[in-house]
Amino acid sequence: MVHRNRPYAPAAVAITLVLATACSSGQGEPASADPGSRRLAVQAAPSTASSTADEQGLVPVIEPGMTPQNKKEEQFFTRAKVLDDIAAYANSRVEVPGPIGIVATNCDEENANWDSFRRQIRFCYEFATKARELFQQPDDKGHKPAAKEVDDSVAGFTNGIVFHELGHAVIDIYDLPTTGKEEDAVDQLSVLLLATSDDKHIGYAIDTINAWGGFAAADEAKDSGQRLDQYADEHSLNAQRFFNWACWLYGSDPAAYESVVRNDSNPDGVLPSSRAGNCETEFQKISKAWATLLKPYLKPQPVK
Ligand SMILES: [Zn+2]
Repeated sequence: MVHRNRPYAPAAVAITLVLATACSSGQGEPASADPGSRRLAVQAAPSTASSTADEQGLVPVIEPGMTPQNKKEEQFFTRAKVLDDIAAYANSRVEVPGPIGIVATNCDEENANWDSFRRQIRFCYEFATKARELFQQPDDKGHKPAAKEVDDSVAGFTNGIVFHELGHAVIDIYDLPTTGKEEDAVDQLSVLLLATSDDKHIGYAIDTINAWGGFAAADEAKDSGQRLDQYADEHSLNAQRFFNWACWLYGSDPAAYESVVRNDSNPDGVLPSSRAGNCETEFQKISKAWATLLKPYLKPQPVK
């Protein structure tokens, strides 16, 4: 079971459920996030940490925030050791030819990307702020979450996104094949890494699910023209990413996440039973596919 203070489906997700039948659309990671292609408004600001050639694996780098809000996120990332924790966990699971930077940086947009040229996973402070604004919203009873809880959720969302970008990185570095949309494949790797871990990382998966639910709800406020364009994007729609993530986490352990499924006896569940029925099989296929692709690079895990 997930031991976490916050409920599985906060207000943001509940909103999404209402909207889901209207096929909400949108992107959390814009099309401009193609590996290596994204423009960065602030280039190569001095780092508080720098990677050296003898370092292996993922190496955290905190760049100075260039706006007051980005400075706050920089301080949060530093104080909470968000990137240190991500790097340590990723390095315990997957071998990458290092050093590969995980860089918290200024972008002038809400985004993250794998930068093949610099060999960096770049996570924008603005993306953290976008998630923070979502997680700060009061629940349906008007209760505002505590600052610590918001911080934890921002860290969780950052995990979900960075492991998505790690998927792009290993596909690029190891020249791995993908069938279907790469964006979906790397979401699957992110869920897989988080779901097959301890309660903290499972909580991070839930944070990411809640973020997609909230972003999907916000998409509904856009005009129809904006929404139509989102169908052309390489990413699945935010609402689809919400249901995919929920399905795959549920599929990783259906007994533990039984309350996620919506049916007659559990009308508050977030995942329609029509999708839930195949989620365990979906997750097993995801697990097998990534285990096959990454077989030479996966590090042995302690037996639980
Ligand atoms: Zn992506």
